[in-house]
Amino acid sequence: MSSFSTGVSRRNFMRILGAASAAATSYPALAAIQQGAAAAPVQGPGRKAFGADMGDMRHLNADTVIISSNENPLGPAQSALGAIATTAPLGGRYHMEETMQTVQVLYDQFNLKKGYIALTPGSGGPLDLALMSNIGPDKPLVYADPSYEQGPRAADTMKAPKFPVPLTATYAHDVRAMLKAHPSPGAYYIVNPNNPTGTMTPREDILWLLQNKPAGSVVIVDEAYFHFSDHESVLDQVAADKDIIVLRTFSKIYGMAGLRAGYAAGRPDLLAKFNTVAAPARSLASISITSSAAARASLLDKDLVSLRRKINSDVRAETLEFLTKKGYKIVPGSQANMFMVDVKRPGRAFQMQMMKENVAIGRTWAAMPNYVRVTVGTKDEMAKFETAFVKCMDQAPGTVNGAELHLPEHYVPSELHRA
Ligand code: PLP
Repeated sequence: MSSFSTGVSRRNFMRILGAASAAATSYPALAAIQQGAAAAPVQGPGRKAFGADMGDMRHLNADTVIISSNENPLGPAQSALGAIATTAPLGGRYHMEETMQTVQVLYDQFNLKKGYIALTPGSGGPLDLALMSNIGPDKPLVYADPSYEQGPRAADTMKAPKFPVPLTATYAHDVRAMLKAHPSPGAYYIVNPNNPTGTMTPREDILWLLQNKPAGSVVIVDEAYFHFSDHESVLDQVAADKDIIVLRTFSKIYGMAGLRAGYAAGRPDLLAKFNTVAAPARSLASISITSSAAARASLLDKDLVSLRRKINSDVRAETLEFLTKKGYKIVPGSQANMFMVDVKRPGRAFQMQMMKENVAIGRTWAAMPNYVRVTVGTKDEMAKFETAFVKCMDQAPGTVNGAELHLPEHYVPSELHRA
């Protein structure tokens, strides 16, 4: 018997569904239909159009080391794979109760009341909804630089003024400078650990911002990589009904990037505001029962996070020690599955050099053009990375064996190339 057919009685399911639709949370699209919510139009950003051939991006040699997109080389846990196998045969029906069960596990684990979680395919979707429902032409976005560009991209879409604030000397979000950046922003976007640096912003700083921010603005905390760190989350601030939305994903430590599962945690009124963003965006929000079951199995897999956190931090430490001993400069303090290294030339050119060595590393950021972001892969992958890295650093910038490099843009897979 499937795990979910035993768990939630029909009466309970209807009660949960009722609560969810009233709060417009677990299924924003469904809730929108039920409540006839009005949809505001969203202008198209400068992103790759739907229908772009995503197959192009993975035309790499079979032995290419892919450490470009902060994915997890370990893939889904055994428990998640088992849950998928059990659930897939039931895929002929919608089985909304499956998702409700996963949401219930999240409520239990984070001490949240009903209506405080929206379970979604990945966290990128709800991140857009969290940003876009709080910013606009008269509601700016304050964010860190360098950081994950989904924030400023959402601001472009909503025609919201942008206030980037440099990271501190320890590569944390400078919350005091962020507060000074604008008297009444719509939202502050904090990525913790930060992408691309992997560095942490102390919890006390986020609490300070929450306490001191102007009324009416929201703090959006993106915890996509949080499980890799040893810090304490700010999810308890959601339970405390603060003006905060926390995003988490199963794409990183849980190794489910392609399976698509994530969630937004926030007060029901903040999640209900997601419905003010255009309807097509919301309609992307329903998660498959296989992904939901895999997510729940991962959440209930007791030692999974600590085990994977240790694997990642051990390999990261070894790689950083290698690079440092060789005299290369890295951004210190990463607590995620990525780090940045100075390649002493335009990062894009170096990325192309590494592709010639069959190692796909991450991209560069405008604020740090000579640094590239590297994802922590397996021990074997990082050994190949080290060999290729030293070889490419020894070559003149922009060349391979003296020849100019010409590789099409889309050759290096990256999370931001996703349509
Ligand atoms: N937030 C950050 C900081 C990320 O780096 C990513 C993806 O790499 C996401 C959100 C979205 O990830 P997903 O939609 O796979 O959950």
